[in-house]
Amino acid sequence: SLGIGFLIGILLVMGMQWLLSQNQTLEALIKQGLDKHEFKPFYQPIVHSKSGKIVGCEVLVRWVKKDGTIIPPYQFIPFAEDSGLILPITEQLLYRVVRDIQTLNWGDTDKFMSVNIVPEHLQNDDLFHTIESLKNDHWQYHNLSLEITERRKIEDLAQAKKTLEKFYDVGIELKLDDAGTGYGGFAYVQELKISTIKIDKMFIDVIGTDDMKNSVLSSIIAFANEASSMKTIAEGVETREQVELLAKHGVYKIQGYVYAKPMPIEELVEWKKIAKN
Ligand code: C2E
Ligand code: CA
Ligand code: CA
Ligand code: CA
Repeated sequence: SLGIGFLIGILLVMGMQWLLSQNQTLEALIKQGLDKHEFKPFYQPIVHSKSGKIVGCEVLVRWVKKDGTIIPPYQFIPFAEDSGLILPITEQLLYRVVRDIQTLNWGDTDKFMSVNIVPEHLQNDDLFHTIESLKNDHWQYHNLSLEITERRKIEDLAQAKKTLEKFYDVGIELKLDDAGTGYGGFAYVQELKISTIKIDKMFIDVIGTDDMKNSVLSSIIAFANEASSMKTIAEGVETREQVELLAKHGVYKIQGYVYAKPMPIEELVEWKKIAKN
């Protein structure tokens, strides 16, 4: 029995070392990827269901290898977020995003590119200064917005608020991602002056199937409607039925396969010749 315990102990240590070495490899690989500028923005349109016009896009990172292999976010984003490598990755994305805003001629429109950020982005002014350094006459600050997931905790809320003031002052909004699924819940909404809540796919999926979860969807929508200035975007919308039910509840901004999947800028430019402008 002592022998078994010992053996299990050894195996555990070996397992942990293996995990650690895997992460060290991933860390090295991500750093190489950064050097080679392999982190690229894909864009998923957000469409107003009444007019059919594009109102903006979410920026979703893809790791595109030289040979064309595309590594999806779930294979590296969790590690990138835990290790802090998400900071240089986001920076690399932003260079392309602002260039792509110009390519689309969005500078004199109120369309936006919504970039995913993590709480660490709000713990100092680095992100703000990066964006400031990229500013030119061909795009407006409001062509960018930030979205932050409710799933990760904001350690220093006071600092986050301070940083956000800088963004708000120039016209960059904050959206709450994955609303209703995580942490800060609706407490963040007021504290952080969230402009828009993104209703998670989880609540969209159950439309027409499960009464109980439908009521979670209704309460999110009710909450948004109560706070009169709160805007909503529904995410992961796949069917016309869902689009219509959401419209009945006053949710018109739709992101999901029903309209388009995330795509590189070359495809976005062609996308129905950029959806009725
Ligand atoms: P998210 O922020 O919740 O992004 C929405 C995800 O839902 C995207 O997955 C998108 O492709 C997917 N999606 C959108 N519409 C539909 C639909 O109709 N059906 C289905 N089945 N899926 C849909 P993706 O691109 O794989 O990204 C996964 C997650 O990775 C994101 O979830 C986000 O948490 C993270 N992520 C992606 N890009 C970035 C980034 O630049 N920075 C950070 N920090 N996280 C990122
Ligand atoms: Ca998001
Ligand atoms: Ca989301
Ligand atoms: Ca989500």
